[in-house]
Amino acid sequence: MIKSPRGTRDLLPPDTALWNFVEAAVRDVFRAYNFHEIRTPIFESTELFARGVGEDTDIVSKEMFTWEDRGRAESDKGQSLTLRPENTAGVVRAYIEHKLWDRGLNKLFYIGPQFRRERPQKGRYRQFYQIGAEIIGPAAAGSQSPARDAEILELLATLLDRVGITDWMLELNSVGCPADRAKFDEALRQALAPVVGKMCTDCQRRAVTNPLRVFDCKVPEDQPIIDTLPTINQFLDEACRTHYEEVKNILNAVGVPFVENPRLVRGLDYYRLTTFEFTHGALGAQNAILGGGRYDGLSEALGGPAAPGIGFAIGEDRLVLSLAASAESVVRKPDVYIAPLGAGMNREAARLARELRRHDLVVDLGDESFRLKKSFEAADKMGSRYILIVGENEVAADAFALKHLASGEQVTVPRGELAQRILPK
Ligand code: AMP
Repeated sequence: MIKSPRGTRDLLPPDTALWNFVEAAVRDVFRAYNFHEIRTPIFESTELFARGVGEDTDIVSKEMFTWEDRGRAESDKGQSLTLRPENTAGVVRAYIEHKLWDRGLNKLFYIGPQFRRERPQKGRYRQFYQIGAEIIGPAAAGSQSPARDAEILELLATLLDRVGITDWMLELNSVGCPADRAKFDEALRQALAPVVGKMCTDCQRRAVTNPLRVFDCKVPEDQPIIDTLPTINQFLDEACRTHYEEVKNILNAVGVPFVENPRLVRGLDYYRLTTFEFTHGALGAQNAILGGGRYDGLSEALGGPAAPGIGFAIGEDRLVLSLAASAESVVRKPDVYIAPLGAGMNREAARLARELRRHDLVVDLGDESFRLKKSFEAADKMGSRYILIVGENEVAADAFALKHLASGEQVTVPRGELAQRILPK
């Protein structure tokens, strides 16, 4: 038997109803905040991620699905391509390619699959889905303002409440600007020098190439050492401190609770100033539902103009896992199951189904070869509210036997009144 590849999975009904419920709710929320959808390719040049995510990150150094194109055209040959491991780099590439700054401030959202070669476990997949958003534009359009950071965070609080996740925690930090980071890097190198020999090989490498990334370490034995390292908040300059304070002031003013976590530096190299994560207790080890931060400087790193930005990515798989609602509660069951009874009745059933579906009713139907008992069983199994019997006598009278399955109540209803009768009250 051929199975789906390791780390991938099929999303099946009724679970897909939950996914659709989540996506419909988040689209509503994005609309209220004037965000518009962007869809970028699921593969891009490898170079985009090397430059946009960072060579030293786990994502780029270990987790990407990369291949060399072997297309016939000379221009394709040997080009290195990668399945996108995240979507911010693609959005910023599109921002530059299509000169989206001409529109001023861009508020963009995306929903789609991302790919990372991680060790699969509950809540961690090799193909997973992210719902994300970015605010990006020229500084003159207000993109660098702490008001944007707060707007994004307040949107997230609204979005999680809207899909029914109330038990979340917002962890907030500022990783400062490049000048602060340089000072912090130096302090980290010094603090790491005497202890790094006792840490994992990844940390030993990070201590040399990019000491900040030591905070991404998940090895339990390294955590007590990491707890002793200096934190970035001691190194923020005046402007970064003011930015961070203003984000917190607005969050307090709008009533979005948060906790500060000075060790939250997030796994992507391009973050500046605000970084954040929302966690949820019910998720266990993989408890981050979403993460994000400000990435002023990313557009320049990718060859574009200065375009401060801030964004987030929600793990949709984890969001769905933490929902209290069940798929059964959001799936729409058939309103009516039409049972054609006897030769020639498929035609009549099809006509009726077409009429009723025009009234936005969910209609399913059987086959004229079925005995009535079989039709009843089918209607029951799919949870239909009504069954409508279409036999020769009914067609002749142009009135049909309509039975409410839960109560067993049966009435004869003229064709013209059927939709009204069946519509959910
Ligand atoms: P990141 O792009 O690493 O900041 O991740 C943002 C969010 O995507 C995380 O908080 C997770 O909810 C989700 N996520 C990241 N990697 C995976 C994965 N391999 N499987 C499922 N969800 C993931």
